[in-house]
Amino acid sequence: MPADSPTRPHTPPRLTAQTVRWVHALGLGPLYVRRSVVQQAQTAAPPPAPGVATDPAVAAPAPAPAPATPRRAAPSAAEGADARAAFIARLQWDEFDAAAQACRACKLGSTRQQAVVGCGSTRAQWMIVGEAPGAEEDRQGQPFVGAAGQLLDAMLHAIGLDRAAQDPQHAVYIANVLKCRPPGNRNPAPDEVAQCLPFLQRQIALLQPRLILALGRFAAQSLLGSNAPISQLRGQVHHYAGIPVVVSYHPAYLLRNPVDKARVWRDLCFARNTVESFPETR
Ligand code: URA
Repeated sequence: MPADSPTRPHTPPRLTAQTVRWVHALGLGPLYVRRSVVQQAQTAAPPPAPGVATDPAVAAPAPAPAPATPRRAAPSAAEGADARAAFIARLQWDEFDAAAQACRACKLGSTRQQAVVGCGSTRAQWMIVGEAPGAEEDRQGQPFVGAAGQLLDAMLHAIGLDRAAQDPQHAVYIANVLKCRPPGNRNPAPDEVAQCLPFLQRQIALLQPRLILALGRFAAQSLLGSNAPISQLRGQVHHYAGIPVVVSYHPAYLLRNPVDKARVWRDLCFARNTVESFPETR
């Protein structure tokens, strides 16, 4: 299937002044937007992000629950990959962070500052999967907080999603294939992906998203068990454990190749249409 021929025709989201601002943030405004709507967007006051409470009494973030200690440390490599995978497959959300921080299954455990598990709502209907933490993510302990993260936020806003939202329809949960930063931001090594994948698989099993948006080659290939390039994987609905998966370019790639922003916009619309075409089950 050619990259630009999705199996289903895409319909751009309804154009509102709010959408226009987000599409503009993505760098696409002039390509897609009627002039009257642009004028409306320029004069209107900035709205709150979707699903984000505007009442200051409600907007204050809830205090984070005290990190739980996992029942015990994950079995070591010497105890066997199956024992380790079985341990990870039983983790609950409140055990995740401690288990990832304790992980030394690959060499990244000794070079990272901290493991970066994920962020967003564990009730989100959308899951975004990236590659691995970079320097800033390693420092802050949150995924996608550097330059690529800002572009990711604009991409999400363009289709009405927000990492700060709590209501499942507008919320996202963001995670990476690798929980630890590869030194110098090199590509993940196959053994690192193999050791780390059980964590991502467990996150998906717990979240049960309506759609997974896989950003970049490592996310797409790891989830789909494929060696195909992004250009071949885009524009189709794949499945991981029965959950629809849509593939697009990684925001870091997009920063280097802004000419592909229009393709990403098509992918985002395709993902949005895919979610809407599957019945909501929760
Ligand atoms: N790139 C990723 O794939 N993930 C991050 O968290 C940051 C940059």
